[in-house]
Amino acid sequence: MIRFVNVHKWFHKLHVLNEVNLQVQAGEVVVVCGPSGSGKSTLIRTVNQLEPISSGEIWVNGVNVSDPKTNLNALRAEVGFVFQHFNLYPHLSVLDNITLAPVQVKKMDRAAANKLGVQLLERVGLAHKQDTFPAQLSGGQQQRVAIARGLAMQPKVMLFDEPTSALDPEMIGEVLKVMKDLAESGMTMMVVTHEMGFAREVADRVVFVDHGQIIEEAPPGEFFTRPQHERAKQFLKQVL
Ligand code: ADP
Ligand code: MG
Repeated sequence: MIRFVNVHKWFHKLHVLNEVNLQVQAGEVVVVCGPSGSGKSTLIRTVNQLEPISSGEIWVNGVNVSDPKTNLNALRAEVGFVFQHFNLYPHLSVLDNITLAPVQVKKMDRAAANKLGVQLLERVGLAHKQDTFPAQLSGGQQQRVAIARGLAMQPKVMLFDEPTSALDPEMIGEVLKVMKDLAESGMTMMVVTHEMGFAREVADRVVFVDHGQIIEEAPPGEFFTRPQHERAKQFLKQVL
């Protein structure tokens, strides 16, 4: 579903992605972890081309997304993205946040979009909040709305960039639960997170990034019990 081939990215002189090769199969959940500043956000943002790459190729569902001719709107309809800070539209109701893209991008009719929106809100446990505005919701609720919004375009892939890092501790579980349900429904997911419990329980593979390089890639059972590289061992000491 996702394939990175010899990907490099520079921000001016800073080499933020260095020879990244990675494949994510359909239905797989890959957790990306690593120290702050190692390039995790940049890595997942390249999948829907929120960040262009400097060289190499990235393929999503058979489309070369790093080709400048690729239609980015079509790509982003297939690849949902959930940010650390939710990024909901503050002036729109919860339901309108979810229906905006299906109506404007997919030209779905209003009634069908509303029906889909309510179904997605049910899925994240927030159907009763459809007419509420984002500011009236808790952080955990806002993030669940953001996940429902990401699903509204019926994507093939969902990307998450530290989706629980901005939340109070008591709200982390409700968001991880929604993500776990999504994983169990067969969604292909790349998740940047420091929630190692989630990685252990839900991930098919854990990828450890340091200085823009994937230095370790293993099923969670292996990664947590027998990390191969010193830097991965140090990282695990800090987060576990
Ligand atoms: P992580 O998500 O692992 O913390 P990032 O991918 O955000 O790391 O950043 C990797 C490196 O690239 C960091 O050194 C960061 O400062 C730098 N960086 C990120 N975005 C930009 C940008 N738009 N311009 C210049 N440097 C950037
Ligand atoms: Mg980041």
